[in-house]
Amino acid sequence: MPTVTESSQFSMPMDTDVYRGIYEDPDELRMQTLKIKRDQLLLSETELGSGNFGTVKKGIFKTTKSEKKVAVKILKNDSNDPTVQEELMSEARVMQQLDNPYIVRMIGICEAESWILVMELAELGPLHKFLAKNRDVSEKNVTELVHQVSMGMKYLEENNFVHRDLAARNVLLVTQHYAKISDFGLSKAIQSNENYYKAKSCGKWPIKWYAPECINFLKFSSKSDVWSFGVLMWEAYSYGQKPYKGMKGMEVTAMIENGKRMECPPRCPSELFELMQLCWTYNTEERPAFSSVELRLRNYYYDIAQ
Ligand code: AMP
Repeated sequence: MPTVTESSQFSMPMDTDVYRGIYEDPDELRMQTLKIKRDQLLLSETELGSGNFGTVKKGIFKTTKSEKKVAVKILKNDSNDPTVQEELMSEARVMQQLDNPYIVRMIGICEAESWILVMELAELGPLHKFLAKNRDVSEKNVTELVHQVSMGMKYLEENNFVHRDLAARNVLLVTQHYAKISDFGLSKAIQSNENYYKAKSCGKWPIKWYAPECINFLKFSSKSDVWSFGVLMWEAYSYGQKPYKGMKGMEVTAMIENGKRMECPPRCPSELFELMQLCWTYNTEERPAFSSVELRLRNYYYDIAQ
């Protein structure tokens, strides 16, 4: 009888079912298709989260040989809004092209009572909430998770994708030692003749995570994701505090333009606050790329891990 395998809260990435991927069996790989049949899915009532698109629930995905726990993003039934539907399809198209251990994998799409996006399950949920609830997690553990996010982002940078919504709320934990980047709703592939994506207009944007060139010129690149990564680091070492607490978006923009930045969170090592500040370099060209951010985090992490 196929079983759903368990991994503990403390498992390392390679010890989890999720790391090995959903189609590790060659027979399954042959059958791999983006379209999932409704009878392959069992949806539970457990709600993992929600947004204006609908809800995210826990489910079970059945293949010929196994059953896996999954997360399913269900488009609201009453959503006749074509932009919401298009956003979900665009998210699915981006996710389909990504394959990295530190990025939530899409398993497929199911067209049933409504559109259902089926993804790997990251059971411990968003990073900021986890750290706010578990303040005993060590700084070294936080560095391990932040480094994993930088590896996922380096992969996106190498493959010319911009995330555009990188924040602690969009980093999900499989275990306390395994983080994955999620929510590709705003993500874009960058054309090979450009190194940035130009938005047509401002939308409902996470201003506090956005680099100056996003706000001033609607220009998004891996370098603007690096800026967001700096804010994500700040959130992580603050154990889930809100960045620029109590400030309005316009006040944050004015603060950045005046050359001011957030202060070092009490539990953040000074070397990593320096890196955070580098991520907040005003000038896009002078800001480091993920290739160098990841290297700095790797060196720091393996130094303290001795
Ligand atoms: P999203 O719109 O993708 O940010 O999803 C909304 C919320 O659903 C997230 O903040 C998570 O709490 C939850 N969620 C989304 N995807 C997953 C997943 N793959 N595994 C576990 N929870 C998820």
